[in-house]
Amino acid sequence: MGRSLETEGIKDVLYAAAEHPRWDEVASRCLSCGNCTMVCPTCFCTSVEDRTSLAGEDVERWRVWDSCFTSGHSYLHGGSVHAGIPSRYRQWMTHKLASWQDQFGTSGCVGCGRCIAWCPVGIDITEEAAAIRATPAAALEADGRT
Ligand code: SF4
Ligand code: SF4
Repeated sequence: MGRSLETEGIKDVLYAAAEHPRWDEVASRCLSCGNCTMVCPTCFCTSVEDRTSLAGEDVERWRVWDSCFTSGHSYLHGGSVHAGIPSRYRQWMTHKLASWQDQFGTSGCVGCGRCIAWCPVGIDITEEAAAIRATPAAALEADGRT
């Protein structure tokens, strides 16, 4: 892992970037395959599946791995909160680098680079974070680009 990621103030940068056009740009390449979440050592999201025997005598409840890149992960009574890929990528990256700090007092990224190595289309979290930092929301607004 030879890359680096500027973490100074990253939480504020990402919290201010909810409507940043970069989310659409990365989503045009992202397949929403979930590989990045499956290989990330800090991702922990799970779902629950109930399995009932045909005779109705046995019922099992299993906890299974899930990913914020599936539409079902954010499904709430009638629809997905994160229906599109831009908001799924935003959710993943903002959680890793920003809201994880509020949740656990530390970054959700340990810098291992696995999400980069296993992304089938070469999306790089360090590149995406740098692109958003390079064009802050305020500058885009002034430019009429948001
Ligand atoms: S580089 Fe960060 S976000 Fe990517 S897999 Fe490693 S810990 Fe997870
Ligand atoms: S591994 Fe790459 S293509 Fe797959 S969901 Fe993650 S960022 Fe998108």
